[in-house]
Amino acid sequence: MTPLATLLVRRIAATGPVTVADYMAECLLHPTHGYYTTRDPFGATGDFTTAPEISQMFGELLGLCLAQGWLDQGRPDRFTLAELGPGRGTLMADVLRATRVVPGFHAAARVTLVEASPRLRAVQRQTLGQHPATWIDTPADLPEAPLFLLANEFFDALPIRQFVRHPDGWQERVVGLAGEALSFGLTAPWAFAPLEPRLSDTVPGDLVEVCPAAGPIMADLAARIARHGGLSLIVDYGDWGSRGDTLQALRGHAFADPLAEPGRADLTAHVDFRALAQAAPLPCHYLTQGAFLERLGITARAQALAAHLGGAALEAHVAAHRRLTHPAEMGSLFKVLALHPPGSPPPAGTAPAGAA
Ligand code: SAH
Repeated sequence: MTPLATLLVRRIAATGPVTVADYMAECLLHPTHGYYTTRDPFGATGDFTTAPEISQMFGELLGLCLAQGWLDQGRPDRFTLAELGPGRGTLMADVLRATRVVPGFHAAARVTLVEASPRLRAVQRQTLGQHPATWIDTPADLPEAPLFLLANEFFDALPIRQFVRHPDGWQERVVGLAGEALSFGLTAPWAFAPLEPRLSDTVPGDLVEVCPAAGPIMADLAARIARHGGLSLIVDYGDWGSRGDTLQALRGHAFADPLAEPGRADLTAHVDFRALAQAAPLPCHYLTQGAFLERLGITARAQALAAHLGGAALEAHVAAHRRLTHPAEMGSLFKVLALHPPGSPPPAGTAPAGAA
């Protein structure tokens, strides 16, 4: 049993089952045994790989999309260049390298990273080298300024609650005990008002997921963009609306039982982009990662980089391009939600080439 499993079994024996959200929060961010607090999970030797770790092209294109938004909005002379959950800091480093060519962008940008894990903050500091940056705990602490923001695979790490529809209301899925082992169970049904809209598109037996932290974060980001201008690009795996159990554990690049090794496996859930968009009363664009990167010019960028490569490096580069964009890989599963202020042009890459 992991040390965190021992703590959770004791807690549940004393005070009863916990929600899936409480379980996820403990597994990911427990101060001494949490997954993100104790390890650097990325890359070939870790548990999973993310788009910025696959290829520099991802960060370059997203960075240039933000910079185009900054130009479109009249080059505000002091703005926040923010990232939620920056992992190793690779995405922000690629953004900063690609945007060096945009006159005035770096001088106006205040790099701000929202990161809960002290361990990953240290990795990010190292990745960014001499570039000035500020770390904060939550998006609520962002400064009052135009906000140009990226979040890649951040929302999937936020704890979710799960509910199963029952003829008499909803039963919440909880983590309890079967003997000495952690085990899923269901509460008695009750009428849960926030899920009333889901009565129209579910039947008894269906499972829906709710991410309580996501709505307030989106509302806060949207309010800042409405007040000061800016642009948010949110990239993650998920869909428009939530349906079914998407809680998953990853360990060593393989799926694992979410209850088997609390604190040692990554736990995530698919992102409900409809819920994110509904919490953000701003113009929103929703499309697949593959379409977005194509429209931002990934093919031309891939060809330019390929011209300097040969052998195994060229093969890896071609595979990385495919992995980011192909529908059978990350191209369709991953989606992009872009938010911008009313009246500003749609962000680069969100409309098909030639569209107004
Ligand atoms: N964006 C990175 C890493 C994604 S993993 C990449 O694409 O490679 C999720 C990141 O979000 C990690 O950096 C993790 O420590 C951070 N994180 C998870 N939950 C968080 C929370 N509640 N508040 C702030 N950061 C969080």
